Amino acid sequence: MISSISERITAIRSSLPASVRLIAVTKQVSTEAMRCAYAAGIRDFGESRIQEAASKQIELQDLRDITWHFIGHLQTNKAKKAIEQFTWIHSVDNLKLAQRLNQLAQQLGLSPSVCLQVKILPDPNKSGWSVPQLLADLPELNQCKNLQIQGLMTIPPLELNDLEILDVFNQTRTLAQQIQEQNWSHIHMQHLSMGMSGDYQLAVQAGATIVRLGTILFGERPL
Ligand SMILES: *Cc1c(COP(=O)(O)O)cnc(C)c1O
Repeated sequence: MISSISERITAIRSSLPASVRLIAVTKQVSTEAMRCAYAAGIRDFGESRIQEAASKQIELQDLRDITWHFIGHLQTNKAKKAIEQFTWIHSVDNLKLAQRLNQLAQQLGLSPSVCLQVKILPDPNKSGWSVPQLLADLPELNQCKNLQIQGLMTIPPLELNDLEILDVFNQTRTLAQQIQEQNWSHIHMQHLSMGMSGDYQLAVQAGATIVRLGTILFGERPL
């Protein structure tokens, strides 16, 4: 089992373009398996729960060059912990949260990298900006000068076929380009965080710069 994690990481890594950043999503994954991923070259780890991540960060504190990515839904009351524990937050999904993170970042002297999570299609199971709301909020997001707004993150709704998924990813890239062309001083769209185990090849095809992979590296998570 342990050796197969490193084999899978090696195989997936070599199948990805060198420019695509691979985040190993380790929710419900043991620190033993995470050490194995680290030994196989992983330096980016993604977690979706603050509490679970905190104890793993303590257990793995000897691995000093890990970059921690928060990828789960973030409640405003956990915003402080999130920016203290994570250098990237992929799941900033509304203006209030962005403004709260910005305020905390200023107080704490931090400048977290963030992605703006967008819903290209309506999806009651996911959080994120609708496209019109995101475009409307850009002037205020541009005021969040303590955040490094790096790009967009998206998760397609479940039960789309491959063509529909590819279309969601392509629309996300086009939206990022559209925002980039508006030349905001503090909003930069150089990253697209998209692609999970089931759809990362489509995401890469559409221009993903960051993929977030769990199951395909570590096996199925217990429910
Ligand atoms: C769990 C999760 C992933 C990884 O999903 P897999 O299908 O296991 O690769 C990626 N992104 C987010 C936001 C997640 O919650």
